[in-house]
This record gives sequence, C-alpha cells and structure tokens, in this order.
Amino acid sequence: MCALLSVVVLAALVAAAAQAQVRPVRPGDESLLKRAPTYEEQVAAQVAARLTHLHPQVRCAPLGIPGLPSSVLGVTLFLGTHPAGYFLMVPQMCADLAAFHRSPASFDPRACTDGTCLTTDAAVAMALATVSHESYHLLGYTNEAQVECYGMQSIWFVASKLGASLDEAQAIAKFYATQIYPLRQTQTPAYWTPECRDGGKYDLRPQSDSWPS
Ligand SMILES: [Zn+2]
Repeated sequence: MCALLSVVVLAALVAAAAQAQVRPVRPGDESLLKRAPTYEEQVAAQVAARLTHLHPQVRCAPLGIPGLPSSVLGVTLFLGTHPAGYFLMVPQMCADLAAFHRSPASFDPRACTDGTCLTTDAAVAMALATVSHESYHLLGYTNEAQVECYGMQSIWFVASKLGASLDEAQAIAKFYATQIYPLRQTQTPAYWTPECRDGGKYDLRPQSDSWPS
C-alpha cells in the first residue's frame, strides 16, 4: 500500500513537473536580470556558481514562453550554441529552495513515512535537482539525458551548500536516484538513459562505488 502510494504520488509529480529546457535568449529578460535578485535567487546563484565555477545569474519568474508546457520548471538561455550565463526557474522552485534553506532537516527523506512528507520531500528534491540540472546547461551541455544525469550526481552538493548535513544531502540524492529518476524512463524519456548509473557512461566519478553522490 505504502509502496503503491509512493509510486502514484511520485509519478504524478514527475509527470507534472521536472523538465528543464534550453531556449534562445530573449531581449525581454533584460529587465528581469536588471532587477536586484531576491535572497533565494542569490542563494541559488551562489550554489550554481560554486558548482560551475562561473558567475551565473538566476531569476525565479514565470517562464513566459508561449506554448511551453506548464510542467517545465526551469530554462537555461542560450546565445546560439553558447549559454548566456543565466537561468530562470518557476517561482515555486525558489519557494521550495527557501523552505529547504530555512530548515534542511525538515525535508530528510529518511524520516518520511507517509504520503504528505513524500510529496514535500520530492518537491524539494526536484528543486535541488533543478539548480544542479540548469548548472550543467550553464556549462554548455545540451543533451538532456546527460545533463539530467550529471545534475543528479550534484544534488548532494546543492543540498549541502544549502545547509544539509553531508549524510542528509547524500540521502536526498539517493532518494532522487531511486524514487524519481526511474520514473523518467516512461514519463520524460528524453531525460533518462540506461547509462546513468554507477559505472555507466555518464558516471562522473567512475572510480568511486558510491552512487549518485
Ligand atoms: Zn535541461
């Protein structure tokens, strides 16, 4: 029952969410980038900066792209084949990151035993994954399956920079890898590859047996 519920809750969440895309840069974003970043945007940008060794800007705002499914959570803008140095996330992502930053231990999947916390833990894991996913786009990667796999291996980093203990950060990454990532094979197949595993083609730490952190 519990396992079934988990799959249903998570499948709904992944079906409804968790895509991130690459889009051509838009002149309309200029005013968005000019306004001072909120605290949450600064936090996300700092984490993305540490992950990429770049100086990206992050803004949370409605993505405002006609025809874009409401399921898309983040967009990294490109100038031709080069990342333009910023990404956008839907406002809910900033809210989830802020909640996590305020109280990381409240979103520890190891402490979750019912459907309610499963939903909030999964939403937070998705927000952390969105920051790391978009960060790999900032580095110039555009293959979604590759970006998603690299991003998953950096969820622990994002979580720990936002205040989680190393143990919890790794547990969140494991939760994502075991509960959320497998659903992508059917829900968002462009974001899934069998090579995303310990020892697979996209394993960033092939000499290490731990996965995905
Ligand atoms: Zn993407």
